[in-house]
Amino acid sequence: MSDLVNSSISPLTNPANPDQQIRMREATCAEAMSFSGLNPLMEEAALTEFLNKVQESEHYSNARFWTAQTRNVAFFWYALHTMSDSGMSTEYTCEHCGEVHTLDFDLRSLADNFQMISGKPERDFQFAGQTIRVKPLTGEAMEDLEQMRLKLQRDKKSNVLDNDYNRAERAKIRLQFLLWAIDYPNDLTEDKADRWQIKRNKVTELSHTQYEKLKDQVYSALGEMSHGLNAVLDDEDGLQLVAGMHVCPTRKKEGVTATTQLHIPFRSVCRIPVV
Ligand SMILES: [Zn+2]
Repeated sequence: MSDLVNSSISPLTNPANPDQQIRMREATCAEAMSFSGLNPLMEEAALTEFLNKVQESEHYSNARFWTAQTRNVAFFWYALHTMSDSGMSTEYTCEHCGEVHTLDFDLRSLADNFQMISGKPERDFQFAGQTIRVKPLTGEAMEDLEQMRLKLQRDKKSNVLDNDYNRAERAKIRLQFLLWAIDYPNDLTEDKADRWQIKRNKVTELSHTQYEKLKDQVYSALGEMSHGLNAVLDDEDGLQLVAGMHVCPTRKKEGVTATTQLHIPFRSVCRIPVV
């Protein structure tokens, strides 16, 4: 699949915007050297830097503002075109038998469910007397949520964490996820920080029942706008690719068919080239 003569990669239509072609080329050795210094824990920030570097300059657009799913499929596309072997394997602890199983799969099989977005990348609805616009989360949002998750992990390591704190921080991440997904399009405040604060106030002033209703509507709108690879965007764990069903070999020997739908964190599937 890799083309040693021509380092450009065939164009990819942005699944969130059919008018945009994403054009990339293979990273140079010098660029791979610079990627070696990226912090593996800051996966989303690293992905932004990577995608911005490997785009053909005449078609460049800042990948920080692409949707999370577009970023994901663009990197997947890059990996498919540059890896000599698309075979992958992943391990998981089986909930049926408790053992650790290994699943071998072909990365290309994940492309089977590739889809373009249906309609525009936004959905409007009326809620509590206001128009709310739902948009797929962008790289900017993913980087912000990643920072919040990292802070929680650091706090865990330094043992400043108790369960109440842990739950409170996780709740903050879930709220932040929702805030990134919505806008109040009739709020014309210019200042970005002010707009965020107004949005935050409007949401946190909702009754708990209203908040839960809003969350359901937002998640449902995000689901309608699914695009790219078959992936789930979890408000706490980030983006996970949906791999095929795996049959438990232990149960199979006993004549029982027990399956597990595997979600693979994106980082373990494709890695940014380093030297
Ligand atoms: Zn098993």
